[in-house]
Amino acid sequence: MRPAILFPLFAETRTLPGVGPRIEKLIDHVAGKRLLDLIFDLPCGVVDRSYRPKLAKAEPGRIATVTLTVQDHVKPRAKFAQGGRQPYRVRCTDGTASIDLIFFHSHWDYLEKTLPTGAQRVVSGRIERYKDKLQMPHPDYVLEPGQERDLPLHEPIYALTEGLPQKSLAKAIRAALDKVPVMPEWQDAHFLKARKWAPFGDALRGAHAPARDSDLSPETEMHRRLAYDELLANQLALIMIRSRMRAAKGRVLQGHGHLRARVIAALPFALTPGQVQSLNEIEADMAAPNRMLRLLQGDVGAGKTVVAMLALLNAVEAGTQGALMAPTEILCRQHMASLEPLAKAAGVRMALLTGRERGPTREATLARLALGEIDILVGTHALFSEDVAFKDLGLAVVDEQHRFGVHQRMKLQGKGASPADVLVMTATPIPRTLALTAYGDMDVSRIMGRPPGRKPVETRVLSDERLIEVVEHLRRAMQKGARAYWVCPLVEESEKIDLAAAEERAGALRRTLGPKVGLMHGKMKGPERDAAMDAFKRGDTQVLVATTVIEVGVDVPEATIMVVEHAERFGLAQLHQLRGRVGRGAAKSSCLLVYHGPLGETAKARLKTMRETDDGFVIAEEDLRLRGAGELLGKRQSGVPEFRLADLAAHADLLAIARDDAKLMLTRDPELKSERGQALRVLLYLFERDEAVRLLRTG
Ligand code: ADP
Ligand code: MG
Repeated sequence: MRPAILFPLFAETRTLPGVGPRIEKLIDHVAGKRLLDLIFDLPCGVVDRSYRPKLAKAEPGRIATVTLTVQDHVKPRAKFAQGGRQPYRVRCTDGTASIDLIFFHSHWDYLEKTLPTGAQRVVSGRIERYKDKLQMPHPDYVLEPGQERDLPLHEPIYALTEGLPQKSLAKAIRAALDKVPVMPEWQDAHFLKARKWAPFGDALRGAHAPARDSDLSPETEMHRRLAYDELLANQLALIMIRSRMRAAKGRVLQGHGHLRARVIAALPFALTPGQVQSLNEIEADMAAPNRMLRLLQGDVGAGKTVVAMLALLNAVEAGTQGALMAPTEILCRQHMASLEPLAKAAGVRMALLTGRERGPTREATLARLALGEIDILVGTHALFSEDVAFKDLGLAVVDEQHRFGVHQRMKLQGKGASPADVLVMTATPIPRTLALTAYGDMDVSRIMGRPPGRKPVETRVLSDERLIEVVEHLRRAMQKGARAYWVCPLVEESEKIDLAAAEERAGALRRTLGPKVGLMHGKMKGPERDAAMDAFKRGDTQVLVATTVIEVGVDVPEATIMVVEHAERFGLAQLHQLRGRVGRGAAKSSCLLVYHGPLGETAKARLKTMRETDDGFVIAEEDLRLRGAGELLGKRQSGVPEFRLADLAAHADLLAIARDDAKLMLTRDPELKSERGQALRVLLYLFERDEAVRLLRTG
């Protein structure tokens, strides 16, 4: 149950004065539906009205507050009339110089009333010089001398959306801030004192009341306090989930190794030390009576799939079933294709279940699954469907984790009669700081290094003015039988245009390179996409033009060239993933990053990093530095929590402290019953980490 003290903050914005249905919608667009969303929507700028020059010395371009006497009104000539293009001018002076207040599309009678000739007014707005004259278009404030107290010296500026006036949003946020209750202090008193941090409410109001640009920085103590609150909530929740999972009775899964031995014998290679070690860690977890929740991290091509397969076989040897879940159909099919021969060698029954399996096929698979006639099921999130029931799920493996969040991990664990062990695999090297926020609830195995024999991919960065050279390079390589990916970026907002660009590129390449150019994109239907992929695998097509659907996991060892067009539009992590699609076989590979100039500073730095290193962890750290964490994995698809106040690039130091703080707190007071514990519950609800709170016993 949400604590009553937070009720006002969970009210909808429409309950605020001045927020009607239209404004509500616009506010929802920039911030959210509830007061809570408003108070966490911190300003992105500040207007300083404290500059009060004499007009003769006023600097044009600045916001200024001046005391003026109205001299006369100059109306637009009648033939332009009200609402015409000519402005309405109000001539004023402060004794040192004169200035025109300028109004377009204004109501004349209103202007005559607020700015009567001969009256004195305090006016605030941006001063401009036009030819030789000073003017101020649409002053922000026009006050009578006695009303000066109503003039805010400093005003926060909020990010807007079209149609939403700054004043409306600022007013709504002020009203929401007024509803922030006095919260019980959830931080340790000594800690607060040592840091000289203000209480939550003061810090929040302070962050909304900047006086200068430096007050907007995440480095201010007010921002840091708020960030710490959010990070602490995040860490508490993860540790609570983790300890609950671990305390949850799991089962002992310990096979005899006969299936694994057969598969290992069938492999055309020996496992790397990194693979062996990860496998040992996984098997130890599975053999323990607690539930496993382990992350298997390994750079692209590190060889995670085999490790997953051997873990699944361990579950099968122990008499249970295994599930392997991947984010896309392509990946599922690929896993199926590479693992089925191994399964056959071991006499293990595998099946596939994606959104595409429907009707009788699906029914049959489900029936066999329930009877235990399928040992390992591979599938997309279709595995989450209500009607999917295993006879006895022992281990669930989730591939390419960054598309799944804590939520789904918990859901998957609910499948099967008894709580299954969970192994999560990710190819996205995650910086340490971020790993803590996203995977703090898991134990981590890392496959360091890559299988032997891999040659580093030669990376070149070049301008699209040299596209002809790139195509020539491709032509020569094709003559020698090479296979290449050609990636065109897909930006969500302009999906259609980009798709057209990819189609056009494929067409152009076909005209110069001949018919062995294929095309694959995310809008294709499954079978079409498989066909494109298969043709490339077989070598029927030698160049595969693709949007980023090939980003994750696709494995064609014969491909040795990766061309990325508009490389400047990709993030580092994405570029790294793309480059990881080549260099998988024994042959030497190259990656051509083709950009469209001129390059911005960040894009330049990104491409330089790509040229200099292929270490995924180095790249991930650099990515974090360049972009800020939220964007790191692509906001929408990432399992990394979005922070509202914390900025992982700026607040990494606080995260480590929050981690220790949360651990200590939960050791002392695992049920959060003490005074601080109760306050921390409020914190968890405030930052909507309810999943964790629900794990606590009531009281
Ligand atoms: P990822 O970690 O990116 O999922 P994969 O599991 O797809 O990597 O492995 C990449 C390639 O390396 C595959 O073709 C796989 O067969 C091969 N591979 C895996 N382990 C080894 C190994 N120990 N020695 C040689 N090749 C290996
Ligand atoms: Mg993989």
